[in-house]
Amino acid sequence: KLSKIMVPYDGSEHARRALDYAKGLAAMAGADARVFIVHIMPSDMIDSKDLDDGGSLDGVPLGLVDREAYQGLVDKALARAKAKVAEGLADVVAEMGDAAVIDVVADPSAADAIVYYAKKNDIDLIVMGRRGLGALRGMLGSVSYGVLHGADAPVLTVK
Ligand code: ATP
Ligand code: MG
Ligand code: MG
Repeated sequence: KLSKIMVPYDGSEHARRALDYAKGLAAMAGADARVFIVHIMPSDMIDSKDLDDGGSLDGVPLGLVDREAYQGLVDKALARAKAKVAEGLADVVAEMGDAAVIDVVADPSAADAIVYYAKKNDIDLIVMGRRGLGALRGMLGSVSYGVLHGADAPVLTVK
């Protein structure tokens, strides 16, 4: 069964090629196949624009704000990241229609978050780039390595 394909997306051309590959697989798999395009946002991506004076929320230093206020900031950052991903992928998403689902998750570890997301959502196949935005020209990025190591679902890496 190949009805739920996950593409971890970091905005790199590698991840974009993984998405194009997954799109082809989904088309072969049938009309009910879905491609979950998932970006993991590090929690430190919270934008200082959302803070009253660039470093605090209602005068309270960010490290000391309560959980609910902090969650509000995370939610704003997630919504902004999701809009950015959707904008960058407008062409594919328009082509794929309901078959494409964009999701953004806040987590300091992209690999752990991808493994957890796949498990939680019963993902049948993970399709990801062999490398990503990192500058090092190694053969396998650390996120791909971590997902290959940790995921129960099969993982396909795309060059
Ligand atoms: P490194 O990050 O280890 O310096 P890299 O950036 O070249 O190296 P990875 O980060 O492992 O390599 O990227 C490989 C693939 O992992 C990407 O093509 C993408 O599919 C996925 N990926 C990486 N980071 C994220 C992220 N933050 N959210 C979603 N997917 C990601
Ligand atoms: Mg990377
Ligand atoms: Mg990295």
